[in-house]
Amino acid sequence: MEDKRQRETVYAAVCADCLTKKNESLALAGKLLREGGTVIFPTETVYGLGANALDPDAAARIYAAKGRPADNPLIVHIAEPEEADTLCDCPPLYARLARAFMPGPLTVIMTAKPCVPKTVTAGLPTVAVRCPAHPVAHALLLEAGVPVAAPSANLSGSPSPTCFLHVKEDMDGRVDMIIDGGECDYGVESTIVKLEEDGTLLLLRPGAVTLEDLTAFGARVTVAPAVLGALKEGETVLSPGMKYRHYAPEAPLYLLDGSFENIRKFLADREGRVAYLAYDEEMASIALPHVTLYSLGEMADTPSQAKSLFRILREADKENYDAIYAPLPSIRGLGMALYNRMIRAAAHQIIKL
Ligand code: AMP
Ligand code: MG
Repeated sequence: MEDKRQRETVYAAVCADCLTKKNESLALAGKLLREGGTVIFPTETVYGLGANALDPDAAARIYAAKGRPADNPLIVHIAEPEEADTLCDCPPLYARLARAFMPGPLTVIMTAKPCVPKTVTAGLPTVAVRCPAHPVAHALLLEAGVPVAAPSANLSGSPSPTCFLHVKEDMDGRVDMIIDGGECDYGVESTIVKLEEDGTLLLLRPGAVTLEDLTAFGARVTVAPAVLGALKEGETVLSPGMKYRHYAPEAPLYLLDGSFENIRKFLADREGRVAYLAYDEEMASIALPHVTLYSLGEMADTPSQAKSLFRILREADKENYDAIYAPLPSIRGLGMALYNRMIRAAAHQIIKL
């Protein structure tokens, strides 16, 4: 992919507290979106790279900026859950899900209406919609007055950006405007569910709306096999994004599945410069000169682990380690989102100790 700057990017910082009066930066961003431009904005999950979802050429600019494969569809962001009606056929279950979880980190896949361009759906008969809760994202969508297709604002294959610095690292000169809205609350991308004809939900990507949340809400949920394991040879890809190498650092990442004592012994025996993503409780007990430690947060604090993961992967990637190790997370609650992102970053390399 070409690395050079392709355009002058306009930068603006917009804080949630300054949205009470008319904001000039958001007015410009809304105008750029209506005119077919690309604007990066903060959401409560990760930063999104947006363009007018009803303009095929604008949506195509997203793929060019990210170097995203053309068969990987985009999520369409809407200001209010009811706007989904203009984009797709919404069964009654959608309205119930919307009341429970929107605005928020839940993306719902339904049958697309003809107005949705093929550049957005990547030619699939379905479209993914999400109503973000972040006040800056919400205000931007209102300003734009059009639905906004927005994947994560990273170069394809690198970790999703959770703060302005990471966005700038990947996207300076590749988009028309970048809005700095501080650090994202969740740090992992939205939960994606597909509404099936039989009234069940197919969980395609775990996120901050957890499997337990969906079950407690009363939904019958099937977890797509690729969420927790590698795609098998010849297996149908239910969500195109699942088949791509993702979030992967340059150095090989391995997940360690075993007791802390065994992990410590394993790390002590390694050669070369290695990194370990440690829980805070483990940090003091792994004082090994060849092992650089990165704090994931406390063992039980999955929200803080989710918030740190992509930042740590980016930081560790800059250090040219011989290998990076991390504990295999549990799949309970938000842990499933961490597990899903980490097995993919590790190309499914799990070492049993
Ligand atoms: P990102 O926008 O980077 O968060 O990635 C969006 C994810 O949603 C990708 O993994 C896509 O493959 C998936 N996705 C978007 N639209 C659809 C759809 N219509 N059917 C299945 N997966 C989808
Ligand atoms: Mg992405």
